[in-house]
Amino acid sequence: MSGSDGERPWPLVIVGGGPAGMSAALVASQNRVEVLVLERTAGLGGQVRWADAPVPDLLGGSAGDGAELAERFSAHLLGTRARIRAGVGVRAVMADERPLRLVLDTREELSARRVLLATGLDHRRLEVRGEHLANAEEDPRKTLGSLRGKSVIVVGGGDEGASLARDLADADATVTMLVRDKLRARPAFGDPARGHPAVEIREGAVVSEIQGGDALEAVVLTTGERIRAHFCFVRIGAEPALPEIQPPLERLDDGRVRVDEALRTSCRRIFAAGDLVRSPNERYIAVALADGAMVARKVEEDLSAGA
Ligand SMILES: Cc1cc2nc3c(=O)[nH]c(=O)nc-3n(C[C@H](O)[C@H](O)[C@H](O)COP(=O)(O)OP(=O)(O)OC[C@H]3O[C@@H](n4cnc5c(N)ncnc54)[C@H](O)[C@@H]3O)c2cc1C
Repeated sequence: MSGSDGERPWPLVIVGGGPAGMSAALVASQNRVEVLVLERTAGLGGQVRWADAPVPDLLGGSAGDGAELAERFSAHLLGTRARIRAGVGVRAVMADERPLRLVLDTREELSARRVLLATGLDHRRLEVRGEHLANAEEDPRKTLGSLRGKSVIVVGGGDEGASLARDLADADATVTMLVRDKLRARPAFGDPARGHPAVEIREGAVVSEIQGGDALEAVVLTTGERIRAHFCFVRIGAEPALPEIQPPLERLDDGRVRVDEALRTSCRRIFAAGDLVRSPNERYIAVALADGAMVARKVEEDLSAGA
């Protein structure tokens, strides 16, 4: 097991390199707390990468799109003492050990006195066979050219599904929306999809399986109908992206991690911040940045008190 220096545990390990994690790392490193950020994807930024241009509601965020903003955040952090490892996910955190023990996807183990979970949200899964064949493009809006002329299935009838269907159809894809019940997108998102000649909306369509080999071939409904398509995107909402925590942390009914005012979880040495703990109407970059900064100060207080 390795810490920041051989066997020594890291004072703070941050799981997730979105705005909450990056902000915590920035503030911690400025206050001379040795900190390691573990990010499972190749780059920092989290969901900020997907925000449209300009990012309208972040002070100073109007200069570019989400990807540019993520690059700016990332460049700032790379100029600090924070240690960053991208492309390394955390599989599990052993919350009852002292120091805390983290198991990485590589099976490597790390120890930490404090952990911040800043893992944000994942797309909710359908939980059907073959689901790994869906969502082949991480952000289809960034690669619309490759979808031109293709048949695409969008599963989900909320705002996100409807707006993606409209964008894909505008980019000359032929789109079938599969909606379990009724299209429930608000008019601002639903109407453009409903009125689009390249979008077919199938209400009452329940997916039972996704079929294919190396690539997607078809989506199968519970009626047995098989709909052929080149791509399928599942947009049925979001859920907290949490590694396994042993023993499990307390959660709210909607799956968010329960935290107190200081963003401490039911394990007091583990903090959680950002979208992982925030309700849908609190999911802003600014909120995640504030959460991260606050946790960094709390960790600094804990460590200097020898806790
Ligand atoms: C399309 C879109 C547009 C948006 N537009 C805006 C906007 O205009 N303005 C605004 O204020 N907000 C916007 N948001 C919301 C904002 O991006 C989020 O509220 C914010 O990014 C949440 O930050 P976070 O750090 O909590 O989580 P995230 O940004 O989700 O970051 C979490 C990070 O943790 C990583 N991770 C997850 N699991 C693990 C693991 N096991 N191990 C290691 N790493 C892991 C993920 O890869 C990710 O990088 C938008 C979101 C989306 C999706």
